[in-house]
Amino acid sequence: MSRLNVKDSEVFTVWTCKECPEAIFVHPDFFQDNGTPVCCDQDMIYDRTFVETETTAIFFKDDTNE
Ligand SMILES: [Zn+2]
Repeated sequence: MSRLNVKDSEVFTVWTCKECPEAIFVHPDFFQDNGTPVCCDQDMIYDRTFVETETTAIFFKDDTNE
């Protein structure tokens, strides 16, 4: 394990809609003001988080088996 400090602006959470193909990327600070993203009049489904820095992209997957 290693720990990497990143800025909120480099972290994206991905949300998808149950009703339509819409997918959005939002930064963590989005939730302070807005809560769970909404599409088609219902809460969107959390999909994944990724970090994109100037030098690399780190993907966090749900499955931890490696
Ligand atoms: Zn939708």
